[in-house]
Amino acid sequence: MKIQYDLHLHSCLSPCGSDDMTPYNLVNMAALLGFDMIAVTDHNSCLNAQAAMAAGKQAGITVVPGMELCTAEEVHMVCLFPTLEDALQFQVYVDGQSFEIKNRPDIYGNQLIMGEGDILMGEEPRLLLNATKITAQKAAHIVRLFHGAAFPAHIDRDSFSLLSSLGFIPEDAEFSAVEITASGDVKNLLAAHPELEGKILLLDSDAHYLENMRDPGPWLDLPENSADCLIAVLNGYEKAAWGRE
Ligand SMILES: [Zn+2]
Ligand SMILES: [Zn+2]
Repeated sequence: MKIQYDLHLHSCLSPCGSDDMTPYNLVNMAALLGFDMIAVTDHNSCLNAQAAMAAGKQAGITVVPGMELCTAEEVHMVCLFPTLEDALQFQVYVDGQSFEIKNRPDIYGNQLIMGEGDILMGEEPRLLLNATKITAQKAAHIVRLFHGAAFPAHIDRDSFSLLSSLGFIPEDAEFSAVEITASGDVKNLLAAHPELEGKILLLDSDAHYLENMRDPGPWLDLPENSADCLIAVLNGYEKAAWGRE
């Protein structure tokens, strides 16, 4: 079945994300727009995934728990998990690989942790924007150990991307998909980087504000609408057709 997806969305937990991007709001906006599957991927944190998954259940849309990991080289990697438990275990690992730098909400923005029904549970005190000690080369491998799948984010961007950092896609990379920006030029990118041949090119919004959430268009052909199926495809265990309408 063709799954309309957006696998890179920030909630109010990301300092750069709007306070209106609550789990309930963003999930229901995605449902209104007509998505089948989304992922909540805050910077270095999965802590709003539970509330988003609960909202997804109500709204009838699959919400995949995840995070946008900032590697040691400041490469952004989207890390997705089949279950909340796997995501939260990965969170413990990432916390142990992070530097203790306090957030300054007046400079960087609020980092709001929300519970089910958009109840404010607290604020994350540690700044989530920083590089961790996890390298880009190892990130996908480590995420697999937690039963998840990772792919480099917005590789066609000039900053915080694998291509801007390394200049190429490593041959031994343990990911079967890469993400390009929603308006990205697939043809030009493939011409410039033939090593991308055979990989799935995901087009996500990376929305930080409700008004930046885009209409559906990019799709993946999955056997069923589930995080398990998505992870299997992203890890290359199963093949899937993909495209953009
Ligand atoms: Zn990013
Ligand atoms: Zn992002």
